[in-house]
Amino acid sequence: MSDRFVYLDHNATTPVRPEVLEAMLPWLGTKFGNPNSAYRIGQEARFAVEQAREQTARLLHCKPEEIVFTSCGSESDVLAIVGAAQRAYDRSQGAKRHLITSAIEHDAVREALTGLQKRSFEVSIVGVDAHGRVNPEAVRSLLKPETILVSIMHANNEVGTIQPVAEIAAICREKGVLFHTDAVQSAGKIDLDVGKLGVDLVAISGHKLNAPKGVGALYVRQGVKLSAVITGHQEKNRRGGTENVASIVGLGRACVLALSELDAHAREQLRLRRRLEEGCLKIPGARVNGHPEYRLPNTCHVAFDGIEGFQLVVALDLEGVCVSAGPACSTGAVDPSHVLAAMGCTSNWCVGALRISVGWGSTDADVDRLLALLPSAVERLRKVGAAT
Ligand code: PLP
Repeated sequence: MSDRFVYLDHNATTPVRPEVLEAMLPWLGTKFGNPNSAYRIGQEARFAVEQAREQTARLLHCKPEEIVFTSCGSESDVLAIVGAAQRAYDRSQGAKRHLITSAIEHDAVREALTGLQKRSFEVSIVGVDAHGRVNPEAVRSLLKPETILVSIMHANNEVGTIQPVAEIAAICREKGVLFHTDAVQSAGKIDLDVGKLGVDLVAISGHKLNAPKGVGALYVRQGVKLSAVITGHQEKNRRGGTENVASIVGLGRACVLALSELDAHAREQLRLRRRLEEGCLKIPGARVNGHPEYRLPNTCHVAFDGIEGFQLVVALDLEGVCVSAGPACSTGAVDPSHVLAAMGCTSNWCVGALRISVGWGSTDADVDRLLALLPSAVERLRKVGAAT
């Protein structure tokens, strides 16, 4: 077991930056007021929450009042999808009951839609091409008079492919249909301007952009109304529950840092990713997945013929390197990836998949370490596989 630690799984979660932790600490200590209390320590907390709302809004280029704080990216997705569906259904007395999504969404979106299907909503699924991209015209062809909402992610968590969100949103706007995008993976990595994208609802999550786990936000375009999923008076009746002040403050600080460093980080991450891809492709029987152009700068998804990605993850972990194979289920085994299946990857390539995602703090030394270990690890696993 190596004592060197290399973290290259920033799409799974990210470390909390010291500046973020520092901003949060007072709100976990002496500044414990409830932001809904009228007296001074409550109002101090209210001020901190509202400041964080402004900071978060700046990252998304929206108004502060269009930000609703939630407990995570998943909750933001659920509030957008279930909240929009329920409201449209109620107001149309059941006439509006159709939603559209893509075949490569995160489970947070998939599960929300499966729940709606069980409640008599209808869900259409648009496929993707071999690079994991949705064709906007395919979305148009699925729209119907009963359609309430289209939900297509901004960037995919496994392969990093960026969707033509502005084009799809324009089609939805033309037809009077709401458009939601899960931007949990793109926020803080690429420009996220809700006005330019023309979207109605955007989900983000703190722990993917160097803020803590357990905090998220939903952008709700002014004028868009949702039925609350957690009822209560907080967040202007849109999300009940006393605000998680410390984490919200952390999210705000992380958004400020992400915005000010966006271009520099994207350039640096792209440089590291290119080095990773070049190195991986020197290994025989390797291929890179995801869109060659429209892809998150930090995400490298490779597949090695004849091995199991999960075994490679274990082998690298023994050397102190953290990467990921695919969506791990609760037993620790790896489910076949619905994303790779939708992209038409054959099962041989699907099982040998490895996601390497760089982020804040990643260095050339991290890349060197992984590239030094990979060829022999792949060869060893292939030999073991051939012998069994
Ligand atoms: N959406 C995407 C694309 C994600 O990658 C994730 C987390 O991996 C989520 C949603 C869920 O975010 P959270 O972990 O904050 O619930």
